[in-house]
Amino acid sequence: METRGQQKSTGVIVVDVQGDFTEWKNGALAVSGTGKAFIDKLGQATSTLKSSGCKIYATMDWHPSGHISFFTSHNNKKIMDVIRVDGRTQVLWPPHCVQHSSGAELVLDKGLFDAVVKKGQNKNFDSYSGFKDDGGESTELLDILKKDGIEQLIVYGIAMDYCVRATAIDGVYAGFDVTVIEDLTALITPETSLKAKQDMINSGVVFQKQL
Ligand SMILES: [Zn+2]
Repeated sequence: METRGQQKSTGVIVVDVQGDFTEWKNGALAVSGTGKAFIDKLGQATSTLKSSGCKIYATMDWHPSGHISFFTSHNNKKIMDVIRVDGRTQVLWPPHCVQHSSGAELVLDKGLFDAVVKKGQNKNFDSYSGFKDDGGESTELLDILKKDGIEQLIVYGIAMDYCVRATAIDGVYAGFDVTVIEDLTALITPETSLKAKQDMINSGVVFQKQL
């Protein structure tokens, strides 16, 4: 990106690179293609961006036990069932990223991050977006980006179809130029990722194959 670090100050949002989402750590909700090599690639890219002057932020799922997104919190439901809750669609997942569990730990060097934003802490609302949960409650992410004078965002991580999608789109809504790096983003399924990519493009997100 020609403008990076020059005309516009760039923030990097590394989405949910937590043990439970990785094959490397045998996570509860391991997304395919997230072995050690992928995580190393994310670490190197993030380090490169930091060296070039970008501010680096992580988001992380931080769910209480019994969270609404866990299939185990509902009777007779299974993983990937889709239910309606108060007019919202909720996909059901295996219990993951429970607060203070080892699976919730970020698996990148924490020294890379200027700030870490936790999301999904309200038992009754899921939060794919790093900016706000499904109940509309904001995280501190936008305030941090404003305080740091960020004008454009680079977003990648896990996973394209859910949390990268929601965070990138909310980034555009918040007024940032947003670029998603495809090679640094894992997919839960190709079908939902294709749909997610279309949603993001329609919202004004730009895609870049590699850093
Ligand atoms: Zn979650």
